[in-house]
Amino acid sequence: MTPLTGRTALVTGASRGIGRAIARRLAADGMLVAVHYGSNEAAARETVRLIEKDGGRAFSIRAELGVPGDVDTLFAVLEAGLLAQTGRVRLDVLVNNAAVTADSIETITPEAFDRLIAVNTKAPLFIIQRALPLLNDGGRIVNLSAAATRIAMPKQPYAMSKAAIEVLSSSLAQMVGGRSITVNAVAPGPTVTDMNPWMLDDPEVQQMVGSGNAVPRAGQPADIADVVAFLASEAGRWVTGQVIDASGGCFLG
Ligand code: NDP
Repeated sequence: MTPLTGRTALVTGASRGIGRAIARRLAADGMLVAVHYGSNEAAARETVRLIEKDGGRAFSIRAELGVPGDVDTLFAVLEAGLLAQTGRVRLDVLVNNAAVTADSIETITPEAFDRLIAVNTKAPLFIIQRALPLLNDGGRIVNLSAAATRIAMPKQPYAMSKAAIEVLSSSLAQMVGGRSITVNAVAPGPTVTDMNPWMLDDPEVQQMVGSGNAVPRAGQPADIADVVAFLASEAGRWVTGQVIDASGGCFLG
């Protein structure tokens, strides 16, 4: 039996990239994982297939975030899936991972800014609000932030949406600590995923990006998933309200 057998997790944006790696890692630790995605059904199915191939359990949930009714859609399918698979509607771990990037400060439109905040900031808050009554005491909430909140990345309104996630994490940690629920933000540096298409399939670019890290290579999704898995585990019970940098020491100085 693996350490987290019998527990349940929701990972948003788990069809690709870091979210897929987190979902696979939590499933390998024994959790039943709800693999949320927005539109890429084939990728979500592949995440579920990879988990099942490794002997784990998962089901997928389609719900576009940042549109009216998004959280209702997500929880309707989540609750039905948990009931069907476990006979109960209880969660142990919530990972708010889904996010988008945006144009620069010079060019972003008010509509695009609204969408950035709706997906990256508003959706996690209301997902948490809906998840709290389902979350068991001793549960875990992990919110994906970005190292871009600590490093002044020129031109990026994206970092604004993530700074709010860090404040939300510490406020919430204080609020739910009495139930032994921990809440943390994990802040990756540049990681090889679809979010950075210019890095994909280009080892030279990855090496160049990685050279800014104390550990001189580009981040991989599994590097982030291992940190999230620690926070989700019993071993992470005494860490709460923190921003955990998971960047290999990106621009430490
Ligand atoms: P990807 O772009 O590779 O994957 C994004 C995931 O989020 C997909 O599963 C996608 O679903 C889902 N998603 C995006 N928009 C929506 C939406 N509107 N509604 C529902 N689902 C949506 O991202 P990464 O894996 O790179 O990033 C994961 C997290 O890590 C994010 O929070 C990101 O901000 C953070 N991060 C990433 C860094 C990096 O360098 N990659 C650096 C710092 C932080 P679908 O497949 O259906 O489109």
